[in-house]
Amino acid sequence: MGAGPSAARGEIIDGKAIAATIREEIKSEVSTMKTKPGLAVVIVGERKDSQTYVRMKRKACEEVGIESFHAEIPETATEKEVLDVVKKFNADARVHGILVQLPLPKHMDEEKILAAISIEKDVDGFHPENIGKLAMKGHEPLFVPCTPKGCIELLKRSGVDPSGKNAVVVGRSNIVGMPAAMLLMGANATVTVVHSKTQNPKKICREADIIVAACGSAEMVKRDWVKPGAVVIDVGTNGVEDKTKKSGYRLVGDVDYENVRKVASKITPVPGGVGPMTIAMLLSNTLASGKRALENK
Ligand code: NAP
Repeated sequence: MGAGPSAARGEIIDGKAIAATIREEIKSEVSTMKTKPGLAVVIVGERKDSQTYVRMKRKACEEVGIESFHAEIPETATEKEVLDVVKKFNADARVHGILVQLPLPKHMDEEKILAAISIEKDVDGFHPENIGKLAMKGHEPLFVPCTPKGCIELLKRSGVDPSGKNAVVVGRSNIVGMPAAMLLMGANATVTVVHSKTQNPKKICREADIIVAACGSAEMVKRDWVKPGAVVIDVGTNGVEDKTKKSGYRLVGDVDYENVRKVASKITPVPGGVGPMTIAMLLSNTLASGKRALENK
């Protein structure tokens, strides 16, 4: 007996497995390089979540043979002290990528510090010049921000070509939504961006062949927001209370995964979808930067 329609399930886009493949590809390429690429990570203060992210990034570097450099700066430091560390890494030829872990303490000007990173080492892709080039036809940024780049890579490696498709991006932040929309447009999709002032987001999302959800609102994209057969990429990471878990919470995306999976043709889970791709793309950007530095020697 065949399964009824209620048992239909979209294919899971396994970000963990795809990211592992990419890391293997990077490892193999790095192993052939005489001068290894180097990534410097700057962390200011003692936020537990930031410390975890930084630890993960350092470990990922180690695993693929990228050299990692590290600066831990106390919360009480001045903006100038952070700028001096960035300048030191800008001048260090062993460093091909610099990442300042966000958020920074409130007394520091995040934009000023990010703009101080040499554009050739801006592996996070947040420098205004890189973002500007991403937006301009006929221009190539040196680096594309890691999370949206990871979303596009997931589509590509799952056989989804955005060309000619309707894509809806939910969210317009500088680090995810806006660059994701630019990248989809660059891949010839027709792109609509939904944000907090958008009227009737459900109606707009229902037109989409591809949805990228990046609004930071737990399980906001519901089953009836999604056209049957659409591809859904869920960037959201939201902690929701769950007394059955030891930690007291569990992680959910911006998409109502269990229900949306019944109508989507392909969907990313949370965790295990976009998350692992972000670090893989950071490694990929660092490798590209290391190669570029060698070519320009
Ligand atoms: P953000 O800076 O808070 O931006 C959220 C965006 O969503 C804003 O553009 C906001 O619109 C829009 N939005 C908020 N509520 C909305 C609503 N009810 N309807 C429509 N749009 C709404 O967040 P972000 O940094 O882009 O991150 C988005 C999500 O991705 C978060 O859950 C974050 O944790 C996650 N994330 C995951 C990774 C990863 O590696 N997996 C990386 C980065 C971020 P306005 O512009 O109008 O305010």
